[in-house]
Amino acid sequence: MTEAEPRDLTIIGGGPTGLFAAFYAGLRGISARIIDTMPELGGQLSALYPEKYIYDVGGFPRVLARDLAKNLIEQGTQFGADIRLEEQVESLIREENGFTVTTDRGRYPTRTVLIAGGKGAFAARKLECPGYDDLLGKGVAHHVKDPALYEGKRVLVVGGGDSAVDWVLNLKDRTERLILIHRREGFRAHAHSMAQMRRAVEDGELELLLHREVRELHGDDCVRAVTIFDNRTNEDTTFEVDAVLALIGFKPDLGPIASWGLELHKNTIAVNHRMETNIPGVFAAGDIASYDGKLELIVTGFSEAAMAVNHAVHTINPKARYNPGHSTNLKLFKEREEAEAAAIEV
Ligand code: FAD
Repeated sequence: MTEAEPRDLTIIGGGPTGLFAAFYAGLRGISARIIDTMPELGGQLSALYPEKYIYDVGGFPRVLARDLAKNLIEQGTQFGADIRLEEQVESLIREENGFTVTTDRGRYPTRTVLIAGGKGAFAARKLECPGYDDLLGKGVAHHVKDPALYEGKRVLVVGGGDSAVDWVLNLKDRTERLILIHRREGFRAHAHSMAQMRRAVEDGELELLLHREVRELHGDDCVRAVTIFDNRTNEDTTFEVDAVLALIGFKPDLGPIASWGLELHKNTIAVNHRMETNIPGVFAAGDIASYDGKLELIVTGFSEAAMAVNHAVHTINPKARYNPGHSTNLKLFKEREEAEAAAIEV
Protein backbone atom coordinates (compact mmCIF):
# COMPACT_ATOMS: atom_id res chain seq x y z
CA MET A 1 0.00 0.00 0.00
CA THR A 2 1.52 3.34 -1.07
CA GLU A 3 1.39 6.55 1.02
CA ALA A 4 1.11 9.33 -1.53
CA GLU A 5 2.17 12.99 -1.31
CA PRO A 6 -0.45 15.17 0.40
CA ARG A 7 -2.79 17.23 -1.79
CA ASP A 8 -5.01 20.21 -1.02
CA LEU A 9 -8.01 18.62 -2.70
CA THR A 10 -8.77 14.97 -3.42
CA ILE A 11 -11.47 14.51 -6.00
CA ILE A 12 -13.30 11.19 -5.94
CA GLY A 13 -14.49 10.59 -9.50
CA GLY A 14 -12.97 11.57 -12.84
CA GLY A 15 -16.23 12.25 -14.68
CA PRO A 16 -17.10 15.67 -16.14
CA THR A 17 -17.65 17.13 -12.66
CA GLY A 18 -14.38 15.80 -11.20
CA LEU A 19 -12.38 16.86 -14.26
CA PHE A 20 -13.78 20.38 -14.23
CA ALA A 21 -13.08 20.53 -10.48
CA ALA A 22 -9.43 19.57 -11.13
CA PHE A 23 -9.22 22.41 -13.65
CA TYR A 24 -10.71 24.84 -11.14
CA ALA A 25 -8.33 23.67 -8.42
CA GLY A 26 -5.40 24.52 -10.73
CA LEU A 27 -6.96 27.86 -11.55
CA ARG A 28 -7.14 28.68 -7.84
CA GLY A 29 -3.58 27.46 -7.22
CA ILE A 30 -4.35 24.45 -5.05
CA SER A 31 -3.00 20.97 -5.71
CA ALA A 32 -5.41 18.22 -6.68
CA ARG A 33 -5.67 14.49 -7.16
CA ILE A 34 -8.38 12.52 -8.96
CA ILE A 35 -9.15 8.93 -7.99
CA ASP A 36 -11.44 6.78 -10.14
CA THR A 37 -12.31 3.10 -10.30
CA MET A 38 -12.49 3.15 -14.09
CA PRO A 39 -9.53 2.45 -16.40
CA GLU A 40 -10.08 5.82 -18.13
CA LEU A 41 -11.25 9.30 -17.20
CA GLY A 42 -14.57 10.75 -18.39
CA GLY A 43 -17.12 9.05 -16.11
CA GLN A 44 -20.43 8.23 -17.80
CA LEU A 45 -19.30 10.00 -20.99
CA SER A 46 -16.51 7.47 -21.57
CA ALA A 47 -18.07 4.43 -19.93
CA LEU A 48 -21.70 4.57 -21.02
CA TYR A 49 -22.20 6.61 -24.17
CA PRO A 50 -18.96 7.67 -25.89
CA GLU A 51 -20.53 7.67 -29.37
CA LYS A 52 -23.68 9.63 -28.51
CA TYR A 53 -24.08 13.30 -29.35
CA ILE A 54 -24.78 15.69 -26.48
CA TYR A 55 -26.77 18.80 -27.42
CA ASP A 56 -27.12 20.66 -24.13
CA VAL A 57 -23.63 21.76 -23.16
CA GLY A 58 -23.26 25.52 -23.60
CA GLY A 59 -21.00 26.52 -26.49
CA PHE A 60 -21.39 23.20 -28.33
CA PRO A 61 -24.36 22.96 -30.76
CA ARG A 62 -23.62 19.24 -30.53
CA VAL A 63 -20.64 17.28 -29.30
CA LEU A 64 -19.81 13.58 -29.14
CA ALA A 65 -19.53 12.44 -25.52
CA ARG A 66 -16.11 10.99 -26.37
CA ASP A 67 -14.89 14.38 -27.67
CA LEU A 68 -16.30 16.29 -24.71
CA ALA A 69 -14.50 13.85 -22.39
CA LYS A 70 -11.25 14.35 -24.34
CA ASN A 71 -11.51 18.15 -24.00
CA LEU A 72 -12.39 17.91 -20.32
CA ILE A 73 -9.37 15.67 -19.73
CA GLU A 74 -7.09 18.17 -21.50
CA GLN A 75 -8.56 21.07 -19.53
CA GLY A 76 -8.71 19.21 -16.22
CA THR A 77 -5.19 17.80 -16.21
CA GLN A 78 -3.31 20.89 -17.47
CA PHE A 79 -2.22 21.93 -13.95
CA GLY A 80 -0.70 18.56 -13.14
CA ALA A 81 -3.43 16.92 -11.07
CA ASP A 82 -2.28 13.52 -9.86
CA ILE A 83 -4.47 10.87 -11.54
CA ARG A 84 -5.08 7.48 -9.95
CA LEU A 85 -7.16 5.12 -12.08
CA GLU A 86 -8.55 1.68 -11.36
CA GLU A 87 -8.64 2.41 -7.63
CA GLN A 88 -11.82 2.35 -5.62
CA VAL A 89 -12.03 4.76 -2.73
CA GLU A 90 -12.85 2.85 0.41
CA SER A 91 -12.53 4.92 3.57
CA LEU A 92 -12.27 8.49 4.78
CA ILE A 93 -10.15 8.94 7.91
CA ARG A 94 -10.29 12.23 9.82
CA GLU A 95 -6.78 13.64 10.54
CA GLU A 96 -5.59 16.69 12.48
CA ASN A 97 -4.98 18.69 9.31
CA GLY A 98 -7.60 17.22 6.99
CA PHE A 99 -8.22 13.61 5.96
CA THR A 100 -6.67 10.47 4.58
CA VAL A 101 -8.60 8.87 1.75
CA THR A 102 -7.79 5.18 1.29
CA THR A 103 -8.29 2.99 -1.74
CA ASP A 104 -7.64 -0.69 -2.41
CA ARG A 105 -4.09 0.33 -3.42
CA GLY A 106 -3.02 3.45 -1.51
CA ARG A 107 -3.40 6.08 1.21
CA TYR A 108 -3.94 9.66 0.11
CA PRO A 109 -3.52 12.50 2.65
CA THR A 110 -5.53 15.58 1.74
CA ARG A 111 -6.72 18.87 3.24
CA THR A 112 -10.18 18.70 1.66
CA VAL A 113 -12.27 16.19 -0.30
CA LEU A 114 -14.68 16.61 -3.19
CA ILE A 115 -16.94 13.65 -3.87
CA ALA A 116 -17.84 13.74 -7.58
CA GLY A 117 -18.73 10.07 -7.77
CA GLY A 118 -21.77 10.34 -10.05
CA LYS A 119 -24.01 7.36 -9.44
CA GLY A 120 -21.20 5.64 -7.55
CA ALA A 121 -18.34 3.43 -8.65
CA PHE A 122 -19.14 1.61 -11.87
CA ALA A 123 -19.06 -2.14 -11.42
CA ALA A 124 -19.04 -4.09 -14.68
CA ARG A 125 -22.13 -6.21 -15.23
CA LYS A 126 -21.24 -9.89 -15.06
CA LEU A 127 -22.22 -12.66 -17.44
CA GLU A 128 -24.45 -14.87 -15.32
CA CYS A 129 -23.08 -18.20 -16.55
CA PRO A 130 -20.74 -20.98 -15.38
CA GLY A 131 -17.09 -20.24 -16.06
CA TYR A 132 -17.31 -16.42 -15.95
CA ASP A 133 -15.90 -15.86 -12.45
CA ASP A 134 -13.16 -18.50 -12.90
CA LEU A 135 -12.03 -17.25 -16.32
CA LEU A 136 -12.28 -13.50 -15.70
CA GLY A 137 -8.79 -12.14 -16.35
CA LYS A 138 -7.86 -15.36 -18.21
CA GLY A 139 -9.00 -14.27 -21.66
CA VAL A 140 -12.39 -13.13 -20.37
CA ALA A 141 -12.69 -9.38 -19.75
CA HIS A 142 -15.33 -6.72 -19.23
CA HIS A 143 -13.34 -3.91 -20.81
CA VAL A 144 -10.55 -3.60 -23.38
CA LYS A 145 -7.28 -2.66 -21.73
CA ASP A 146 -5.13 -2.94 -24.83
CA PRO A 147 -6.54 -3.73 -28.30
CA ALA A 148 -3.17 -5.25 -29.29
CA LEU A 149 -3.94 -8.19 -26.96
CA TYR A 150 -6.56 -9.35 -29.50
CA GLU A 151 -4.18 -9.44 -32.49
CA GLY A 152 -4.73 -12.67 -34.49
CA LYS A 153 -7.19 -14.05 -31.92
CA ARG A 154 -10.66 -15.61 -32.16
CA VAL A 155 -12.78 -13.21 -30.15
CA LEU A 156 -16.38 -13.34 -28.97
CA VAL A 157 -17.90 -9.98 -28.03
CA VAL A 158 -21.14 -9.94 -26.02
CA GLY A 159 -23.35 -6.84 -25.92
CA GLY A 160 -25.63 -4.50 -27.78
CA GLY A 161 -24.64 -1.01 -26.63
CA ASP A 162 -22.14 1.60 -27.78
CA SER A 163 -19.26 -0.13 -26.08
CA ALA A 164 -19.79 -3.52 -27.81
CA VAL A 165 -20.37 -1.95 -31.23
CA ASP A 166 -17.43 0.48 -30.95
CA TRP A 167 -15.07 -2.29 -29.92
CA VAL A 168 -16.00 -4.73 -32.68
CA LEU A 169 -15.37 -1.91 -35.15
CA ASN A 170 -12.04 -1.20 -33.50
CA LEU A 171 -10.96 -4.87 -33.33
CA LYS A 172 -12.23 -6.17 -36.69
CA ASP A 173 -8.95 -5.55 -38.53
CA ARG A 174 -6.85 -7.26 -35.85
CA THR A 175 -8.70 -10.46 -35.06
CA GLU A 176 -8.59 -13.80 -36.85
CA ARG A 177 -12.30 -14.36 -36.17
CA LEU A 178 -14.69 -11.88 -34.59
CA ILE A 179 -18.21 -12.78 -33.45
CA LEU A 180 -20.70 -10.40 -31.86
CA ILE A 181 -23.71 -11.84 -30.05
CA HIS A 182 -26.62 -9.86 -28.68
CA ARG A 183 -29.68 -11.14 -26.84
CA ARG A 184 -32.20 -9.04 -28.79
CA GLU A 185 -32.73 -7.54 -32.24
CA GLY A 186 -32.45 -3.88 -31.17
CA PHE A 187 -29.12 -2.21 -30.36
CA ARG A 188 -28.50 0.83 -28.14
CA ALA A 189 -25.65 2.21 -30.21
CA HIS A 190 -25.09 5.33 -32.27
CA ALA A 191 -26.65 5.19 -35.76
CA HIS A 192 -23.35 5.94 -37.49
CA SER A 193 -21.59 3.08 -35.64
CA MET A 194 -24.50 0.77 -36.47
CA ALA A 195 -24.15 1.55 -40.17
CA GLN A 196 -20.41 0.79 -39.97
CA MET A 197 -21.14 -2.45 -38.14
CA ARG A 198 -23.66 -3.59 -40.77
CA ARG A 199 -21.07 -2.88 -43.47
CA ALA A 200 -18.49 -4.95 -41.57
CA VAL A 201 -20.98 -7.85 -41.43
CA GLU A 202 -21.67 -7.55 -45.19
CA ASP A 203 -17.92 -7.46 -45.88
CA GLY A 204 -17.40 -10.65 -43.87
CA GLU A 205 -15.24 -8.92 -41.25
CA LEU A 206 -17.66 -9.68 -38.43
CA GLU A 207 -20.14 -12.48 -37.64
CA LEU A 208 -23.28 -11.11 -36.01
CA LEU A 209 -25.62 -13.48 -34.14
CA LEU A 210 -28.84 -12.08 -32.70
CA HIS A 211 -31.04 -13.62 -29.97
CA ARG A 212 -27.97 -15.40 -28.61
CA GLU A 213 -26.77 -15.55 -25.00
CA VAL A 214 -23.83 -17.23 -23.33
CA ARG A 215 -24.65 -20.57 -21.69
CA GLU A 216 -21.15 -21.45 -20.46
CA LEU A 217 -17.50 -20.49 -20.78
CA HIS A 218 -15.01 -23.37 -20.98
CA GLY A 219 -11.33 -23.33 -20.16
CA ASP A 220 -8.65 -24.02 -17.59
CA ASP A 221 -5.72 -21.61 -17.31
CA CYS A 222 -7.44 -19.53 -20.04
CA VAL A 223 -10.73 -19.48 -21.90
CA ARG A 224 -10.81 -22.07 -24.70
CA ALA A 225 -14.41 -22.33 -25.90
CA VAL A 226 -17.86 -20.94 -25.38
CA THR A 227 -21.37 -22.40 -25.54
CA ILE A 228 -24.04 -19.97 -26.65
CA PHE A 229 -27.77 -20.58 -27.02
CA ASP A 230 -30.53 -19.19 -29.20
CA ASN A 231 -33.03 -17.68 -26.73
CA ARG A 232 -35.95 -18.40 -29.13
CA THR A 233 -35.23 -22.13 -29.66
CA ASN A 234 -32.91 -22.90 -26.67
CA GLU A 235 -30.53 -24.58 -29.15
CA ASP A 236 -26.85 -24.68 -28.07
CA THR A 237 -23.76 -24.07 -30.21
CA THR A 238 -20.20 -24.52 -28.94
CA PHE A 239 -17.11 -23.08 -30.63
CA GLU A 240 -13.49 -22.39 -29.79
CA VAL A 241 -12.38 -18.88 -28.79
CA ASP A 242 -9.21 -17.27 -27.46
CA ALA A 243 -10.93 -14.31 -25.80
CA VAL A 244 -14.37 -13.21 -24.63
CA LEU A 245 -15.31 -9.57 -24.12
CA ALA A 246 -18.46 -9.13 -22.05
CA LEU A 247 -19.34 -5.52 -22.86
CA ILE A 248 -22.78 -5.55 -21.28
CA GLY A 249 -22.56 -2.31 -19.34
CA PHE A 250 -21.80 -1.06 -15.88
CA LYS A 251 -23.91 -1.07 -12.75
CA PRO A 252 -23.42 2.00 -10.56
CA ASP A 253 -22.98 1.38 -6.84
CA LEU A 254 -22.39 4.03 -4.12
CA GLY A 255 -20.29 1.41 -2.32
CA PRO A 256 -18.18 2.29 0.73
CA ILE A 257 -18.98 6.05 0.52
CA ALA A 258 -22.42 5.19 1.91
CA SER A 259 -20.86 4.28 5.28
CA TRP A 260 -18.85 7.49 5.86
CA GLY A 261 -21.48 9.19 8.01
CA LEU A 262 -22.61 11.52 5.23
CA GLU A 263 -26.23 12.65 5.13
CA LEU A 264 -27.69 10.62 2.31
CA HIS A 265 -30.88 11.02 0.31
CA LYS A 266 -31.45 7.66 -1.36
CA ASN A 267 -28.22 7.18 -3.35
CA THR A 268 -27.11 10.83 -3.23
CA ILE A 269 -25.29 13.08 -0.75
CA ALA A 270 -27.09 16.07 0.73
CA VAL A 271 -25.23 19.38 0.24
CA ASN A 272 -25.93 23.03 1.05
CA HIS A 273 -25.62 25.92 -1.43
CA ARG A 274 -21.81 25.86 -0.99
CA MET A 275 -21.71 22.18 -1.95
CA GLU A 276 -20.66 21.36 1.62
CA THR A 277 -21.74 18.01 3.06
CA ASN A 278 -22.46 17.50 6.75
CA ILE A 279 -18.73 16.67 7.26
CA PRO A 280 -16.73 19.94 7.33
CA GLY A 281 -14.03 19.89 4.62
CA VAL A 282 -15.91 17.32 2.52
CA PHE A 283 -17.78 18.67 -0.50
CA ALA A 284 -19.94 16.90 -3.11
CA ALA A 285 -20.88 17.93 -6.65
CA GLY A 286 -22.40 16.53 -9.83
CA ASP A 287 -24.89 13.67 -10.02
CA ILE A 288 -24.01 12.46 -6.53
CA ALA A 289 -24.91 15.75 -4.81
CA SER A 290 -28.54 16.52 -3.99
CA TYR A 291 -30.60 19.49 -2.88
CA ASP A 292 -34.06 20.75 -3.60
CA GLY A 293 -34.51 21.42 -7.32
CA LYS A 294 -31.41 19.48 -8.44
CA LEU A 295 -30.98 18.70 -12.15
CA GLU A 296 -28.67 15.80 -13.02
CA LEU A 297 -26.95 17.32 -16.03
CA ILE A 298 -23.37 17.82 -17.14
CA VAL A 299 -23.67 21.62 -16.95
CA THR A 300 -25.02 21.42 -13.40
CA GLY A 301 -21.93 19.42 -12.45
CA PHE A 302 -19.63 22.08 -13.96
CA SER A 303 -21.24 24.84 -11.95
CA GLU A 304 -21.27 22.80 -8.74
CA ALA A 305 -17.62 21.84 -9.24
CA ALA A 306 -16.66 25.53 -9.49
CA MET A 307 -18.64 26.34 -6.34
CA ALA A 308 -17.24 23.40 -4.37
CA VAL A 309 -13.61 24.15 -5.31
CA ASN A 310 -13.88 27.87 -4.53
CA HIS A 311 -15.32 27.05 -1.11
CA ALA A 312 -12.64 24.37 -0.57
CA VAL A 313 -10.01 27.06 -1.27
CA HIS A 314 -11.62 29.21 1.38
CA THR A 315 -11.66 26.26 3.82
CA ILE A 316 -7.93 25.65 3.26
CA ASN A 317 -7.12 29.33 3.53
CA PRO A 318 -9.86 31.40 5.19
CA LYS A 319 -8.15 34.60 3.96
CA ALA A 320 -8.50 33.54 0.31
CA ARG A 321 -11.30 35.12 -1.67
CA TYR A 322 -14.23 32.87 -2.44
CA ASN A 323 -14.82 34.56 -5.80
CA PRO A 324 -12.19 33.47 -8.36
CA GLY A 325 -12.64 36.51 -10.63
CA HIS A 326 -12.90 36.14 -14.39
CA SER A 327 -10.53 33.71 -16.12
CA THR A 328 -10.07 36.29 -18.91
CA ASN A 329 -8.29 38.54 -16.40
CA LEU A 330 -6.19 35.92 -14.64
CA LYS A 331 -2.45 36.54 -14.46
CA LEU A 332 -1.86 32.81 -14.75
CA PHE A 333 -3.21 32.64 -18.32
CA LYS A 334 -1.77 36.03 -19.33
CA GLU A 335 1.72 34.85 -18.33
CA ARG A 336 1.24 31.61 -20.25
CA GLU A 337 0.11 33.48 -23.39
CA GLU A 338 3.08 35.87 -23.13
CA ALA A 339 5.48 32.93 -22.80
CA GLU A 340 3.88 31.21 -25.83
CA ALA A 341 4.08 34.43 -27.88
CA ALA A 342 7.75 34.89 -26.89
CA ALA A 343 8.51 31.30 -27.93
CA ILE A 344 6.95 31.92 -31.37
CA GLU A 345 9.02 35.12 -31.86
CA VAL A 346 12.24 33.24 -31.07
P1 FAD B 1 -20.07 10.50 -13.55
O1 FAD B 1 -19.99 10.88 -14.97
O2 FAD B 1 -20.97 9.37 -13.16
O3 FAD B 1 -18.59 10.19 -13.03
C1 FAD B 1 -18.40 9.70 -11.72
C2 FAD B 1 -17.10 8.93 -11.64
O4 FAD B 1 -16.83 8.64 -10.26
C3 FAD B 1 -17.15 7.58 -12.36
O5 FAD B 1 -16.11 7.50 -13.31
C4 FAD B 1 -16.99 6.54 -11.23
O6 FAD B 1 -16.21 5.41 -11.64
C5 FAD B 1 -16.25 7.35 -10.16
N1 FAD B 1 -16.47 6.84 -8.79
C6 FAD B 1 -17.63 6.72 -8.13
N2 FAD B 1 -17.44 6.21 -6.91
C7 FAD B 1 -16.11 5.99 -6.77
C8 FAD B 1 -15.29 5.44 -5.74
N3 FAD B 1 -15.79 5.01 -4.57
N4 FAD B 1 -13.96 5.36 -5.97
C9 FAD B 1 -13.42 5.80 -7.13
N5 FAD B 1 -14.16 6.30 -8.16
C10 FAD B 1 -15.48 6.40 -7.98
N6 FAD B 1 -26.33 14.77 -19.34
C11 FAD B 1 -26.48 15.93 -20.05
O7 FAD B 1 -26.27 17.02 -19.52
N7 FAD B 1 -26.83 15.88 -21.38
C12 FAD B 1 -27.04 14.70 -22.05
O8 FAD B 1 -27.38 14.70 -23.23
C13 FAD B 1 -26.87 13.48 -21.33
N8 FAD B 1 -27.05 12.28 -21.93
C14 FAD B 1 -26.87 11.12 -21.22
C15 FAD B 1 -27.03 9.89 -21.86
C16 FAD B 1 -26.86 8.71 -21.17
C17 FAD B 1 -27.02 7.39 -21.89
C18 FAD B 1 -26.52 8.76 -19.77
C19 FAD B 1 -26.34 7.47 -19.00
C20 FAD B 1 -26.37 9.97 -19.12
C21 FAD B 1 -26.55 11.17 -19.83
N9 FAD B 1 -26.38 12.40 -19.20
C22 FAD B 1 -26.51 13.56 -19.93
C23 FAD B 1 -26.06 12.51 -17.77
C24 FAD B 1 -24.58 12.88 -17.56
O9 FAD B 1 -23.75 11.92 -18.21
C25 FAD B 1 -24.29 12.95 -16.07
O10 FAD B 1 -25.08 13.96 -15.50
C26 FAD B 1 -22.79 13.24 -15.83
O11 FAD B 1 -21.97 12.23 -16.37
C27 FAD B 1 -22.53 13.38 -14.33
O12 FAD B 1 -21.16 13.65 -14.19
P2 FAD B 1 -20.40 13.31 -12.82
O13 FAD B 1 -18.97 13.66 -13.06
O14 FAD B 1 -21.13 13.93 -11.69
O15 FAD B 1 -20.54 11.72 -12.63
